[in-house]
Amino acid sequence: MSQMIKGLKSLFFSLTFFSLVYYGVVKSQIFWLKQIVIIEQLLLVFLAVIIVFASYFNRSRLAFLSMLWLIYYGGLSFTPPWSNWLAVHGDWLMLFGCFCILLLSMIKDRGVVSIHGFYRLVFIIMAGGVAYLWLSTNEAIIALLQSLTNIDSFKKYLLVELPIILSVVISFWRTVKRADLVTSAVFISLLVWILHHYQLINLPISLLLMLLSVHYLFVIVIDAYFLAYRDDLTALPSRRALNQLALSLGRKYTVAMLDIDHFKKFNDTYGHDIGDQVLKLVAAKIGKVKGGGKAFRYGGEEFTIVFPSKTIEQALPELEAVRQAIQDYKIVIRQPQRKTKQQRSSKKGAKNADFKTVNVTISIGVAIRADKQGFEQALKCSDQALYKAKKTGRNKVSY
Ligand code: GH3
Ligand code: MG
Ligand code: MG
Repeated sequence: MSQMIKGLKSLFFSLTFFSLVYYGVVKSQIFWLKQIVIIEQLLLVFLAVIIVFASYFNRSRLAFLSMLWLIYYGGLSFTPPWSNWLAVHGDWLMLFGCFCILLLSMIKDRGVVSIHGFYRLVFIIMAGGVAYLWLSTNEAIIALLQSLTNIDSFKKYLLVELPIILSVVISFWRTVKRADLVTSAVFISLLVWILHHYQLINLPISLLLMLLSVHYLFVIVIDAYFLAYRDDLTALPSRRALNQLALSLGRKYTVAMLDIDHFKKFNDTYGHDIGDQVLKLVAAKIGKVKGGGKAFRYGGEEFTIVFPSKTIEQALPELEAVRQAIQDYKIVIRQPQRKTKQQRSSKKGAKNADFKTVNVTISIGVAIRADKQGFEQALKCSDQALYKAKKTGRNKVSY
C-alpha cells in the first residue's frame, strides 16, 4: 500500500513538473517559435546527449525512448515513397509507439550496449509486429466477438482506441507499482505520444520533444542525486549528504550521534538479513525526528542528527522522544528457524510460529558546537558523549 502511495506521489511530482514547464512554454510560445530553427538543431544534440547520459547512468529506458523519438523525428522528414507509406499506415505507427512505450514501462533498466540491450531492441521490433498483426487481424477478431456478443456500439473503437486505452491503463498501473521517476517519465511520454497523435498538443513537434528531453534530463539528474546522497538500505541521507550539510551550517548547531545497542548480538541471534530489516525500521523512526533535526546514516548502525541553530536544551526533548519511540517499538520479525513438525501440525503454532516481536534500544550522545570548533570536532564531542551513554547503561541520552 505504501508503495502505491509512493508511486502516486512520484507520478504526481513528475506530471506537475512536466505540466509547469509545458505551461511556461505555451505561455511564451511566440518567443520560442522565433527560435524554432535553433531548437530544431539543438534537439538532435540534446537527444544524443540524453542517449549517452542515460546509458552512462544506467537509465537505459530513457536512452531507448530518446532513440525512438530521434527516429520518429527523423522519419517526419522522409520524402516519398516513405512519407506516403507512413501516411497510409498512421494507425500502425500510433500503435507501434504505444506498444513500445508500454514495453518500456514494463521492463527494467539493464544497460544499452549489452545482451539485454539487444533483447530489448528485438522486443521493440516485435512490438511493431504485434501492432501490424493486430490491425491486420482486427476484422476477424471483430467478427468473432460479434458472434459472441453485441458489440455494435463500440465496434469502431476496437481497432485503435481499445489498445491505446489498455496501454495507458497497464502503463499507469506499472508506474504506480514501481514508484520511480524513470517509469513516470515513460508514462508521461505515452500520454504525450497519444495527445500528439490526436493533435491535442498545439506545439511544433521539435519544441514538444525538447520539453520531453528536458524532462528526461531532470529525471536523470534527480536520480543521480539520490544515488549519491541517499543511503540504499535505510533511504536516509548518507554521510556524503551530512558532509554537504556541514559546509552550510552556521556558528550555532547541535550534533547527536546515535548507535543501536548490542546490535552485534542481535545479528548473531537473528541473522544479518533480519538485522538489516530492523536497521531500516529504526532508521525510519530516527528520520521522523522533530524540532528541525536532520537525520543521516553515518555508517553501519550509527546515525547522526544535526539541529541547525539549536542548543542542547532545545534538542534534548526531541532526541529523548526518538529514544523512547524506538524503545517502545515492538518490531515484528519473521523467525529464521524452520517450524518443527509439532508446530506445523498444531493450528495455533502454524499461525504464530513464524513471527516474533523484538525490541531494540539506542544510545545517544549530544554536543553543541563550541567556539572555533569545526564540524568534525563537534561530531567527535558527540561521539564522546555517546561513549558515556554506552558506559553508563545504554538506552539513554548523554551530553
Ligand atoms: P554497543 O553499540 O551497544 O556497544 O554494541 P554493538 O554490538 O552494537 O557494537 P557496535 O556498535 O560496535 O557493533 C556494530 C555492529 O552492527 C556490527 C555489525 O554486526 C552490525 N552492523 C553494522 N552495520 C550493519 C548493517 O548494515 N546491517 C546489519 N545487519 N548489521 C550491521
Ligand atoms: Mg556502532
Ligand atoms: Mg551498536
